[in-house]
Amino acid sequence: MSVRNVTRAALAGSLTVVALLGGQAAAAPAESPRSAAEPKVLTYDSSGSAEFAEAVDSGVKVWNDSVTAVRLEKAADGAQANVRIVADDGWPRAVTTSLGNGTVYMGREAVQQGYHTTRIASHELGHILGLPDMKPGPCSSLMSGSSAGVSCTNADPDASEKAEVEENFTQGAAGSAAPQRTLVFQD
Ligand SMILES: [Zn+2]
Repeated sequence: MSVRNVTRAALAGSLTVVALLGGQAAAAPAESPRSAAEPKVLTYDSSGSAEFAEAVDSGVKVWNDSVTAVRLEKAADGAQANVRIVADDGWPRAVTTSLGNGTVYMGREAVQQGYHTTRIASHELGHILGLPDMKPGPCSSLMSGSSAGVSCTNADPDASEKAEVEENFTQGAAGSAAPQRTLVFQD
Protein backbone atom coordinates (compact mmCIF):
# COMPACT_ATOMS: atom_id res chain seq x y z
CA MET A 1 0.00 0.00 0.00
CA SER A 2 1.44 3.38 -0.95
CA VAL A 3 1.82 6.24 1.48
CA ARG A 4 -0.91 8.07 -0.36
CA ASN A 5 -3.31 5.19 0.10
CA VAL A 6 -2.52 4.94 3.78
CA THR A 7 -3.30 8.61 4.21
CA ARG A 8 -6.53 8.26 2.34
CA ALA A 9 -7.53 5.28 4.46
CA ALA A 10 -6.73 7.21 7.63
CA LEU A 11 -8.78 10.14 6.41
CA ALA A 12 -11.67 7.87 5.56
CA GLY A 13 -11.51 6.47 9.07
CA SER A 14 -11.67 9.93 10.60
CA LEU A 15 -14.59 10.92 8.44
CA THR A 16 -16.44 7.79 9.48
CA VAL A 17 -15.97 8.68 13.13
CA VAL A 18 -17.26 12.20 12.55
CA ALA A 19 -20.26 10.83 10.74
CA LEU A 20 -21.03 8.43 13.58
CA LEU A 21 -20.74 11.19 16.16
CA GLY A 22 -23.43 13.00 14.24
CA GLY A 23 -25.81 10.39 15.58
CA GLN A 24 -28.65 8.63 13.92
CA ALA A 25 -31.13 11.47 13.94
CA ALA A 26 -31.51 11.35 10.17
CA ALA A 27 -34.14 9.06 8.77
CA ALA A 28 -32.97 5.47 8.64
CA PRO A 29 -32.71 3.89 5.19
CA ALA A 30 -35.99 2.26 4.21
CA GLU A 31 -34.16 -1.00 3.49
CA SER A 32 -33.39 -1.61 7.18
CA PRO A 33 -35.80 -4.25 8.48
CA ARG A 34 -34.50 -4.21 12.07
CA SER A 35 -36.81 -2.95 14.72
CA ALA A 36 -33.98 -2.11 17.09
CA ALA A 37 -31.41 0.56 16.31
CA GLU A 38 -28.27 -0.55 14.51
CA PRO A 39 -25.37 -1.15 16.88
CA LYS A 40 -22.83 1.59 17.30
CA VAL A 41 -19.68 0.29 15.59
CA LEU A 42 -16.35 0.99 17.25
CA THR A 43 -13.18 0.04 15.40
CA TYR A 44 -10.13 -1.29 17.18
CA ASP A 45 -6.47 -1.59 16.27
CA SER A 46 -4.71 -4.42 18.11
CA SER A 47 -1.59 -4.42 15.92
CA GLY A 48 0.49 -3.35 18.91
CA SER A 49 -0.84 -5.99 21.29
CA ALA A 50 2.05 -8.40 20.60
CA GLU A 51 1.66 -11.73 22.46
CA PHE A 52 -1.82 -10.67 23.64
CA ALA A 53 -3.44 -10.52 20.18
CA GLU A 54 -5.49 -13.67 20.77
CA ALA A 55 -6.56 -12.58 24.24
CA VAL A 56 -7.66 -9.25 22.79
CA ASP A 57 -9.69 -10.95 20.07
CA SER A 58 -11.29 -13.14 22.75
CA GLY A 59 -12.08 -10.07 24.86
CA VAL A 60 -13.66 -8.39 21.84
CA LYS A 61 -15.75 -11.50 21.18
CA VAL A 62 -16.95 -11.50 24.78
CA TRP A 63 -18.40 -8.03 24.34
CA ASN A 64 -19.82 -8.68 20.88
CA ASP A 65 -21.58 -11.76 22.27
CA SER A 66 -22.80 -9.91 25.38
CA VAL A 67 -24.35 -6.67 24.13
CA THR A 68 -26.26 -5.49 21.08
CA ALA A 69 -26.09 -1.68 21.28
CA VAL A 70 -22.39 -1.54 20.41
CA ARG A 71 -20.11 -3.68 18.30
CA LEU A 72 -16.31 -3.83 18.11
CA GLU A 73 -14.78 -4.43 14.69
CA LYS A 74 -11.16 -4.63 13.62
CA ALA A 75 -10.10 -1.41 11.88
CA ALA A 76 -8.84 -1.56 8.32
CA ASP A 77 -5.07 -1.44 7.91
CA GLY A 78 -3.87 2.14 8.23
CA ALA A 79 -7.25 3.45 9.31
CA GLN A 80 -7.57 5.41 12.53
CA ALA A 81 -9.36 3.27 15.11
CA ASN A 82 -11.64 4.27 17.98
CA VAL A 83 -9.73 1.94 20.29
CA ARG A 84 -6.02 1.20 20.26
CA ILE A 85 -4.77 -1.86 22.16
CA VAL A 86 -1.09 -2.16 22.94
CA ALA A 87 1.16 -4.33 25.10
CA ASP A 88 3.56 -2.84 27.62
CA ASP A 89 5.43 -3.80 30.78
CA GLY A 90 3.26 -1.86 33.23
CA TRP A 91 0.02 -2.73 34.98
CA PRO A 92 -3.03 -3.17 32.70
CA ARG A 93 -4.96 0.06 32.26
CA ALA A 94 -7.26 2.00 30.00
CA VAL A 95 -7.21 5.65 29.03
CA THR A 96 -10.51 6.84 27.62
CA THR A 97 -10.93 10.16 25.83
CA SER A 98 -14.69 9.79 25.49
CA LEU A 99 -17.23 6.99 25.54
CA GLY A 100 -16.02 4.35 23.09
CA ASN A 101 -12.66 5.97 22.40
CA GLY A 102 -9.28 5.42 23.99
CA THR A 103 -6.29 3.16 24.52
CA VAL A 104 -6.02 -0.17 26.32
CA TYR A 105 -2.67 -1.23 27.74
CA MET A 106 -2.24 -4.99 28.12
CA GLY A 107 0.27 -4.70 30.98
CA ARG A 108 2.64 -7.61 31.37
CA GLU A 109 3.07 -6.96 35.11
CA ALA A 110 -0.31 -8.50 35.92
CA VAL A 111 0.15 -11.33 33.46
CA GLN A 112 3.44 -12.24 35.11
CA GLN A 113 1.61 -12.34 38.45
CA GLY A 114 -0.80 -14.87 36.98
CA TYR A 115 -3.84 -12.82 36.03
CA HIS A 116 -5.91 -14.17 33.14
CA THR A 117 -5.20 -12.40 29.84
CA THR A 118 -8.69 -12.61 28.32
CA ARG A 119 -10.23 -11.29 31.55
CA ILE A 120 -7.75 -8.42 31.44
CA ALA A 121 -8.65 -7.59 27.82
CA SER A 122 -12.37 -7.85 28.46
CA HIS A 123 -12.11 -5.77 31.65
CA GLU A 124 -10.13 -2.97 29.99
CA LEU A 125 -12.53 -2.93 27.03
CA GLY A 126 -15.26 -2.55 29.65
CA HIS A 127 -13.69 0.77 30.64
CA ILE A 128 -13.70 1.85 26.98
CA LEU A 129 -17.42 1.01 26.92
CA GLY A 130 -18.02 3.29 29.89
CA LEU A 131 -17.79 0.98 32.92
CA PRO A 132 -15.96 2.02 36.10
CA ASP A 133 -14.02 -0.34 38.36
CA MET A 134 -16.20 -2.16 40.92
CA LYS A 135 -13.66 -3.18 43.51
CA PRO A 136 -13.53 -5.14 45.61
CA GLY A 137 -15.91 -7.56 43.98
CA PRO A 138 -16.52 -11.22 43.14
CA CYS A 139 -15.16 -13.15 40.18
CA SER A 140 -18.64 -13.08 38.61
CA SER A 141 -18.14 -9.35 38.12
CA LEU A 142 -15.87 -8.40 35.23
CA MET A 143 -15.18 -4.95 36.60
CA SER A 144 -14.02 -6.32 39.97
CA GLY A 145 -10.74 -6.75 38.09
CA SER A 146 -7.74 -7.91 40.06
CA SER A 147 -9.67 -7.78 43.35
CA ALA A 148 -11.18 -11.16 42.41
CA GLY A 149 -7.73 -12.73 42.63
CA VAL A 150 -5.39 -14.43 40.18
CA SER A 151 -7.48 -17.60 40.16
CA CYS A 152 -10.41 -15.76 38.56
CA THR A 153 -10.65 -16.50 34.85
CA ASN A 154 -14.15 -15.12 34.23
CA ALA A 155 -14.03 -12.79 31.23
CA ASP A 156 -17.80 -12.24 30.95
CA PRO A 157 -19.61 -9.15 32.23
CA ASP A 158 -22.45 -9.83 34.67
CA ALA A 159 -26.05 -8.82 33.99
CA SER A 160 -25.75 -5.34 35.43
CA GLU A 161 -22.51 -4.65 33.59
CA LYS A 162 -24.12 -5.68 30.31
CA ALA A 163 -27.16 -3.51 31.04
CA GLU A 164 -25.00 -0.49 31.79
CA VAL A 165 -23.13 -0.79 28.48
CA GLU A 166 -26.40 -1.22 26.58
CA GLU A 167 -27.71 1.91 28.25
CA ASN A 168 -24.52 3.88 27.58
CA PHE A 169 -24.74 3.26 23.86
CA THR A 170 -28.49 3.47 23.54
CA GLN A 171 -28.39 6.93 25.09
CA GLY A 172 -25.42 7.84 22.92
CA ALA A 173 -27.33 7.02 19.78
CA ALA A 174 -30.45 8.87 20.84
CA GLY A 175 -28.90 12.01 22.28
CA SER A 176 -26.02 14.27 21.46
CA ALA A 177 -22.41 13.13 21.55
CA ALA A 178 -21.05 12.38 25.01
CA PRO A 179 -18.82 15.05 26.55
CA GLN A 180 -15.14 14.71 25.76
CA ARG A 181 -13.09 13.96 28.84
CA THR A 182 -10.01 11.91 29.51
CA LEU A 183 -10.21 9.22 32.21
CA VAL A 184 -7.42 6.93 33.32
CA PHE A 185 -8.28 3.51 34.80
CA GLN A 186 -5.30 1.95 36.51
CA ASP A 187 -6.47 -1.67 36.49
ZN1 LIG B 1 -10.26 -1.45 35.73
